[in-house]
Amino acid sequence: MQDRKQELAERAAEVREALADAAREAGRKPEDVTLVAVSKLHPASDIRALAEAGQTDFGENYVQEAMDKQEELADLDVNFHFIGGLQSNKAKFVAGNFALVHSVDSAKLVRALHKKAESLGVVQDILIQVSIAGEAQKSGITTELLPQLAEEAMGMSGVRLVGLMTMPPFFDEPDRARPIFARLRQLRDELEKQLGTKLPHLSMGMTGDFVPAVREGATMVRIGTRIFGARPPK
Ligand SMILES: *Cc1c(COP(=O)(O)O)cnc(C)c1O
Repeated sequence: MQDRKQELAERAAEVREALADAAREAGRKPEDVTLVAVSKLHPASDIRALAEAGQTDFGENYVQEAMDKQEELADLDVNFHFIGGLQSNKAKFVAGNFALVHSVDSAKLVRALHKKAESLGVVQDILIQVSIAGEAQKSGITTELLPQLAEEAMGMSGVRLVGLMTMPPFFDEPDRARPIFARLRQLRDELEKQLGTKLPHLSMGMTGDFVPAVREGATMVRIGTRIFGARPPK
């Protein structure tokens, strides 16, 4: 167990260093990029070990798994991010239980989150997930439908829209994802004008492509494999 803890701490430190380098090369401050450690399919003990090494933000994809881990780790002071595909019928388990939901991609889902958050008397921070590369990207709302969904979210008191998220298809060459990240930033800038509000967050970049994502302005990167190693099958 001690070995695993040390391994995770070292890997996370390496990622932090690479992130900081990428930020400085882009003329940005390392502290402006939050590392979300994606712990899906890895045990709660890994989260605990990494939290003890100072990691504060963790990303989970599956509602039941995330809830089980939250229960087991209730004594930890960490932020859980919901980053996976979410059906609106499960929104009631998510609203109010995660620091940020990255994967909002429909009006139905945003309404369900709003309703549950409102009934709890909380405001759920959300990002809208955008599909930029079209067919090749399974999840996310199209760029055409984004402005309307953003308007809807802005009108709901139970949610607070704080930015956008995207997940490019896998490329062997990470720089091929860069235009997709640049496009997300551009969409964010356009939305800020349209809505007359700041949307500070861009959640983009994973193990294979976080360097170009940081160059294009990512404020959150979601990194799993490079920290935890290969995931066991679900
Ligand atoms: C699994 C997952 C990640 C992490 O991917 P890695 O390649 O392991 O870093 C990031 N974002 C989302 C939405 C994911 O589902």
